[in-house]
Amino acid sequence: MPQSFDPDCIDLPLGHVIDGKLVPAKGVLPMFRPSDGAEHAACPVADAAMVDRAVESARNAQAAGWGSATPRDRTRALHRWADLIEADAPTLAPLEALSSTRPVAQLAQGDIAVTAEQIRFFAEMADKEGGDLAPTRDASLGMTVTEPYGVVGAITPWNFPISMAGWKLGPALAAGNAVVLKPSEMTPFSTIRLALLAVQAGIPAGLVNVVLGDGPVTGNAITGHPDVAKVSFTGSTGAGRAIMGNVARTGMKPMTLELGGKSPQIVFADADLDLAADAIARSITFNAGQACVAGSRVIADNRILPDLAARLVARMVPDRPGPTWDAATGYAPIISDRQLRQIGGIVDDAVAQGATLLTGGAAMDRPGYFYAPTLLADVAPDSPAILQEIFGPVLTIQGFDDEDQAMTLSDHPTYGLCAGIFTRDLSRAMRMMRRVRAGTVWINRYGRSRDHILPTGGKGQSGIGKDLGREAYHANRQSKTVLIDI
Ligand code: NAD
Repeated sequence: MPQSFDPDCIDLPLGHVIDGKLVPAKGVLPMFRPSDGAEHAACPVADAAMVDRAVESARNAQAAGWGSATPRDRTRALHRWADLIEADAPTLAPLEALSSTRPVAQLAQGDIAVTAEQIRFFAEMADKEGGDLAPTRDASLGMTVTEPYGVVGAITPWNFPISMAGWKLGPALAAGNAVVLKPSEMTPFSTIRLALLAVQAGIPAGLVNVVLGDGPVTGNAITGHPDVAKVSFTGSTGAGRAIMGNVARTGMKPMTLELGGKSPQIVFADADLDLAADAIARSITFNAGQACVAGSRVIADNRILPDLAARLVARMVPDRPGPTWDAATGYAPIISDRQLRQIGGIVDDAVAQGATLLTGGAAMDRPGYFYAPTLLADVAPDSPAILQEIFGPVLTIQGFDDEDQAMTLSDHPTYGLCAGIFTRDLSRAMRMMRRVRAGTVWINRYGRSRDHILPTGGKGQSGIGKDLGREAYHANRQSKTVLIDI
């Protein structure tokens, strides 16, 4: 169980991981700790030549046998890696907590354990999914076989660094690919460690390469590389669009894009209001609202709106805010000073334009970048507080009189990631589930379960394709059609 740690006494692995080895590199981009604002390191930026080296290493390692190894060999190696990840929690957790928003105590039982379990899930898929036989009409034998892409280029965000790396690496490796992964320039350390643990687990060197850097230089070099056969990206919708443009300019390749959201939580008058308030408050305060799935727009029946709002206010108190390296911390900081100011700006503008502040509404008076859980009512429908993904602990509440109005309010012009529906009426729940534009719908709960069986992904500009579940494994293999004359 990771304990509190001294942030100034952590040995940081700073460099790219190429061919199974740490390649030290000069830091370029200054890094700040969200918990106290201290500048503590600088992230290197891999240029096109360094990305070339990583892609070549990946291509060679994949061609040398991983792609054609017996699936059970891949399964065994991935299981060993998952075991090592779990056992390494005392080292991994501080590396993750130091520069990110993830409190150290939540990591071992949460992100790290879940990542190991998720890798085991994909490990077990390697020898269970083959091709298909087709009912051809003549005497031919028709079938599809599947094969890996080769090198997958993966890019991850800062909000759940280990989990996001696991989402990309687990299915890609199980499916027989090699990966070149770029973590966020703000939170690279735990991903570097994951790659080194993969080598220790006996996954051949070169299968997991990590290059550090930013989007415009390193990210572009990955997505546009001719030997990267598939791109798997999680991040903002804006960056997703830029990646699509770069891929189109430099060639063509399949892409999985997991992007932003502004998800509604629709509460009907017959809902269990305590259950709804618990779920909604948890979803907007977990990681201080810095989650793609954050249910940031409450849409409530006008008859129960004041009651629900009061229950939310009672629950939206920061639970043990503190530095991520303190094992007692529950409430996370905001990732950067820039992001903190952006959240404050959106809330202040909404209030200046007539919104009612029911709780929060300001940065917290303590070191680091902390913002108080905030609830806004009476917000203009065209306000950035309603339309923009704030990526902070800010919730709006709007009222409706009937189902049609609830649907109109829940529809977002850009995003369609998730939705929550709270009602005791099963027919209404199923009606709404069909109508709401969202890749995932939660009914009388909000948030993923801890298993990995269900896929996740968005509609509209919240994304293309799925991570997790069997769909993520299939997305990392391509099918080939075969017809044999007999
Ligand atoms: P971001 O888009 O700024 O950066 C994500 C990653 O992409 C980083 O590694 C960054 O360096 C890289 N990047 C940026 N521009 C790029 C480009 N042009 N080419 C290649 N790479 C580029 O996002 P962020 O601030 O790190 O993360 C927050 C965003 O991620 C939010 O919008 C959130 O909703 C989204 N997110 C989505 C999911 C999901 O499953 N849908 C999960 C987590 C986070």
